Amino acid sequence: MIIAIDGPSGTGKSTVAKELAHRLGFTFFDTGAMYRSFAWKIVQENIDPTDQAKVVSILPRFGYSIRKDQRGERRYFVGDQDVTEAIREVQISPIASQIATYSEVRKALVKIQRAFGHRSDAVFEGRDMGTVVFPDADLKIFLTARPAVRAKRRYHELMAKFPDLAESLNIDQVQKELEERDLNDMNRSISPLRQASDAILIDTSDLSVSQVVGKIIRLGSQKENHYPKMKWAYRIIYLLARGYFRLFFRLKIYGLEHYRRGKGVLAANHNSNLDPPVLSVSCPEEVHFLAKESLFHVPLLGRLIRTLNSHPVSRGASDAQTFRTIIQLLQHGHKVILFPEGSRSFDGELQPIERGLPFLVQKSQSTVFPAYIEGTFQAWPRTQKMPKLWGKITCVFGSPIEWEDFEGLDKRQAEEQISQRIGRSLRELRSWLQSGAKGSPP
Ligand code: C5P
Repeated sequence: MIIAIDGPSGTGKSTVAKELAHRLGFTFFDTGAMYRSFAWKIVQENIDPTDQAKVVSILPRFGYSIRKDQRGERRYFVGDQDVTEAIREVQISPIASQIATYSEVRKALVKIQRAFGHRSDAVFEGRDMGTVVFPDADLKIFLTARPAVRAKRRYHELMAKFPDLAESLNIDQVQKELEERDLNDMNRSISPLRQASDAILIDTSDLSVSQVVGKIIRLGSQKENHYPKMKWAYRIIYLLARGYFRLFFRLKIYGLEHYRRGKGVLAANHNSNLDPPVLSVSCPEEVHFLAKESLFHVPLLGRLIRTLNSHPVSRGASDAQTFRTIIQLLQHGHKVILFPEGSRSFDGELQPIERGLPFLVQKSQSTVFPAYIEGTFQAWPRTQKMPKLWGKITCVFGSPIEWEDFEGLDKRQAEEQISQRIGRSLRELRSWLQSGAKGSPP
């Protein structure tokens, strides 16, 4: 999936795109950094940026790369030179804007951007993502903000990065520079900055970063829920199993408005072996779950659950091994079904939440999507060898629980509060269902 974010400078594009990618487990790509890096190279080579032919002649020697440091932060390189800080200097901005008007430069850089886009789910931010580079992006956002707000943001950003500028720089100057650059970006003949006809406009002037990110995630999930993309084999089994549960168990699904695609933990109550398939077919995307390794050796069943993204856990596996598997899945941006009560209930009642899931949520910085399943206990309790042939099953999704709400607490406290929130959410979803399922679930 590709999310394209465009807009003028100071609208919060980079901060929003970075946070959004982090929340979704996507790759983040700041295309402005690429134009800036090329501008840096031009300065290094002592070339006049207005000399188009000379600028273009440098392209084959650009050697741009992105590497991650030990903390996982991205660093931008030109050749072997780390330019991450240097490209943010004030004098680089107008040069980047100048060289970005040359069609050969744009062609070369766009080629690299597209190559990155084909590799993984990504958030791209720049000026022409939705119009030129990814006209088929799954979601296009155009950010704006009032000029004074943009200038203030850019001024604070520069002050934070280069405190030495405090004496020589003022907000009016910054606003003037932004306006000139925007004018240049909007009026150039090739790939000018403009809102794609199918992009959604968000004014960030009075919104916090997390509010903008939340808005985009909701927009993304609304769009995605209409067009779930699945591997063909998964889709066939998904549709067959969904049809089966709908027909024989009158499966009803509530609360999909709370559902967001991508990275996250689906935390459900656990009554029966039917819970993983019921939950899988209730989700509008491919999900992953864990299953006992022995099940993978059963001839047909093994193939079936493998197709349904099930991952083996061996009997003797330590918690650490299992946790590693789950964290890897989450890091790849998957949704993973987990049962926070640990094992199946003996009486169909809710059980206490164990410590494992809250630990995982914190460690992987994942959102929890609580889901309450009713009817699977009656259909196939753990005391029965085989399931009943028909019955009534319901699945309700509740409001997501964000890991950020527990940031800053010490580990133990956070784990305890996450457990409490999950437990409370499952109880509330049960009450909502039992009192007639009116409106949206809590
Ligand atoms: O986003 P940022 O301010 O870092 O971008 C620096 C300059 O690079 C912009 O003013 C614009 O001229 C150019 N740019 C572009 N197309 C992009 C990204 C940036 O023309 N996709």
